[in-house]
Amino acid sequence: MKILALIILLIFAPIAFCSELPDLGDVSQESLSPLQERQIGQQSLMQIKASKQYYDDPEVNDYLNEIGDKLVQYSNEPSLNFEFFAVNDNSVNAFAMPGGFIGVNTGLLLITENESELASVLGHEISHVTQHHMARMVSATKGDTMASMAAIALAILAARSNPDVAQAAVAGTGAHLMQKQLNFTREHEQEADRLGLDLMEKAGFDPHAMPEFLELLQKSTRLIDGNAPNYMRTHPITSDRIADIENRVSKLPYHLLPDSLDFDFVRTKLIGLQKTPKNAIRYFNDALTVHKFGNQLAQRYGLVSSLLRDNQIDRAKSELAILLKEAKGAAKDNAMLTTLQARVKRAAKDPDTLAFYRTAVQNFPQSRALVYEYTDLLINSNQADAAVKLLTDQVTLHPMDTTLYDLEARAYHQLHNSLEQHRAQAYSMAWQGNLPDAIMQLEIAKREGGSFYQLSIIESDLRELREMQSEQEDGKKKKKKK
Ligand SMILES: [Zn+2]
Repeated sequence: MKILALIILLIFAPIAFCSELPDLGDVSQESLSPLQERQIGQQSLMQIKASKQYYDDPEVNDYLNEIGDKLVQYSNEPSLNFEFFAVNDNSVNAFAMPGGFIGVNTGLLLITENESELASVLGHEISHVTQHHMARMVSATKGDTMASMAAIALAILAARSNPDVAQAAVAGTGAHLMQKQLNFTREHEQEADRLGLDLMEKAGFDPHAMPEFLELLQKSTRLIDGNAPNYMRTHPITSDRIADIENRVSKLPYHLLPDSLDFDFVRTKLIGLQKTPKNAIRYFNDALTVHKFGNQLAQRYGLVSSLLRDNQIDRAKSELAILLKEAKGAAKDNAMLTTLQARVKRAAKDPDTLAFYRTAVQNFPQSRALVYEYTDLLINSNQADAAVKLLTDQVTLHPMDTTLYDLEARAYHQLHNSLEQHRAQAYSMAWQGNLPDAIMQLEIAKREGGSFYQLSIIESDLRELREMQSEQEDGKKKKKKK
């Protein structure tokens, strides 16, 4: 029974042709199993990665995961492996896919005024996942399996932050009647708010930020008039809903907590990257000297990053020196500041660069930016052995991270280990949703020969990928017959 696979293929077809789906098993049961949820979520993430929408910045994504995980640990599913990621879209939106995949548009990150507002959105989305609202949506429309499955796929699609594309896709399949099922019900919204508030409070964020942020969104909607932020379309914000939250938080004390440095750094980084290097330099200069707005540490962080982009290494060095002096003790404890220091050293061809990265990775083992850059440097300096050691550990932590596999492939290439090189390339392709090339890479790896253990892993991966591919072809055939 591959209805779900088929439906998702149909719905995704207008935008993405590389729709390979894992076997989702029997979907005639009342609700989706956790495994099915996870597979739908993984599949959707693969699609987003294959498109240009995935915001592939390890610092932004690490930050979202840090805030997200602070909240998840207090949820009723603390062991579910959540993955938070940014989506390159300036409209205001955030969305939860089944199985724990949560996307946050850059537009939402930029509009939030403090970290608690961001936490309020994440807490709400986490709760949609832990309450299995999508699975419950399916069981609510029992007896209408095709339609409800379509609604799930739709919700995922809509969540992909581009409702216009979603609507085009819906129209193409004649399932436009399903559109009203795009939104979670009011009960689901209230439940997500209530549980989200609870997570915020337990994790030490200010719960008052939730109604404040919703009000901000509602106001901005009135201003734009008729052009509601996507977030409002996928999570309807009613006065009732805000009143309900306000009522709940009115009894709670305010937690006046300062934003983390990372919150300001991440937002500054996003602002800078939206400008040309020269314009960004002018903007941050202005912020620091003329108008003196914003967090001055963050503005100088933005200035140094922009100077690096513009290849003004000497000025980057001198501004960095000021930044480190102003940051005082924070410079040692902050991964983003440390990474910036490392980047300046690298750009200046400082002989101390590799050693600096080595220590930085030891101090901040969670930082993927540092891992990427350090292993890249190791490979460039003919130390692929050390790179492989670090990458192997990281891949266990982030099994869907395609950049890690790409680095691994480069390192194995240098070590003349073709089997592992092609295997790493295969995983990178697979997680980007490119099954045919993933299979090809595994077949090459197999021909290289290896130990019994290595070959049996390759065999089992090949079987899995081929199954996924044949399902995909089945889906296409069924679609043609219609
Ligand atoms: Zn919602």
